[in-house]
Amino acid sequence: MIGDPRASWVPPNHPRRESLLIRERLVDGFKEGYVATQGLIAHGRGECFDYLIGESSIPPALTAERVAVAALLIAKHPVISVNGNTAALVPRQVIELAKLVNAKLEVNLFYRTREREELIARVLRENGAEEVLGVGDDASCTIPELFSERRRVSCRGIYIADVVLVPLEDGDRTEALRRMGKIVIAIDLNPLSRTSRAASITIVDNVVRAIPNMIKFAEEMRGMPRDELIRIVRNFNNEENLRSVIMFIRDRLSELVSKGITLEFSKS
Ligand code: ATP
Ligand code: MG
Repeated sequence: MIGDPRASWVPPNHPRRESLLIRERLVDGFKEGYVATQGLIAHGRGECFDYLIGESSIPPALTAERVAVAALLIAKHPVISVNGNTAALVPRQVIELAKLVNAKLEVNLFYRTREREELIARVLRENGAEEVLGVGDDASCTIPELFSERRRVSCRGIYIADVVLVPLEDGDRTEALRRMGKIVIAIDLNPLSRTSRAASITIVDNVVRAIPNMIKFAEEMRGMPRDELIRIVRNFNNEENLRSVIMFIRDRLSELVSKGITLEFSKS
């Protein structure tokens, strides 16, 4: 990040430098008009859960990421949904993943405005996306049972998708997509959110780690026989995996309590 203007005020040795730089990316996206105010609040909630899992990709997250890649690879119409936070945090990476698994990219916003959808599409194109669905008149199909702008999706994208990856989606829409019979892959740091509980495959990891992990898995798994990929998806149980996440947090907190929580300082 040397030479990055955003990094200028964050001291190079700040213990939370990475986290602060990630925040800066969202603030920049907000100033540029494509991250919603509510997106900033959602990020704060995510950071809280990231502390609980130790800000790393825990084993059940890696399992879910691998299964998610298998599901994307065997899908007929895989779609990766992109909102403002995703565009701010992992624009190049979602495009790379989409290419590897042959998925379409679709702008999908909770707080949809024409301006924000066009700005997000522009960010994606600037980062190398060839086709971006869900902008303007392209978002003319509707998800049943949802109201307002949140129900609009692309007829060539999420509407006909069999597998949809929704980083940072809301619970209501996840449930509606499930009711349409789709396999929904959610990336959500909160294992207790409605989204996490309603998704078919829940990845409890930060999107900044999850998408790069999925890129690695996709590179490894692209050559696998289809039967093997199907087996990986069939053997996965989301309820069990979410239970493992919560047990991981429980065990981690118990260990912290027994080892001591406060930081030590020596006088120099
Ligand atoms: P639900 O409606 O599903 O119960 P919610 O209303 O809590 O969820 P939102 O306010 O829509 O959810 O926020 C989106 C979710 O995204 C939050 O649960 C938050 O933990 C998660 N989140 C925020 N930033 C990240 C990130 N960088 N990586 C992964 N998850 C994140
Ligand atoms: Mg919600």
